[in-house]
This record gives sequence, structure tokens and C-alpha cells, in this order.
Amino acid sequence: MTDVVDRASQLEEMQREQALKANKQHEKPLVVKGVRHCLECDDIIQTQRIKLVNAVRCINCQQLFDHQQKHYRKTGRQF
Ligand SMILES: [Zn+2]
Repeated sequence: MTDVVDRASQLEEMQREQALKANKQHEKPLVVKGVRHCLECDDIIQTQRIKLVNAVRCINCQQLFDHQQKHYRKTGRQF
């Protein structure tokens, strides 16, 4: 019986995590023919970065974006 409860709470935990992730990354990625492109310069984003940080920008644009964010926001996104 406890097995069922455990599974239910695990599912709940997963959903909460996913909600948090979705909240963190609210920008809609630019996807062309199944390939994700940078929102700023249209460069193809490495699959590794999408998996790691759900990137919507290339490294250069993300660094620039983070830098700009820091001017008016204390919590910058890290990758
Ligand atoms: Zn870019």
C-alpha cells in the first residue's frame, strides 16, 4: 500500500519540479524544422545546452542577455 502512496508523491514531486523549471524558463524557444535557434541571432543552439539549461539563446547572446539582466535584476540565470 505504501508503494502506491510513494509513487503518488513522487509524481507530485516531479510535477512540481517541472512547474518550477517552466517558471524559470518562460521564454518561448525559436524552433525551425525541429532545430532550436537563438532568439537573438538565429544561430543553431547546441543540443547539449538545450538539455542542460533549456537554452533559448546561443552562448554569446545568453551571456550578453545575462549581463543586461544583472543591471536591473539581482537573480540572473546561470548556466
Ligand atoms: Zn545568438
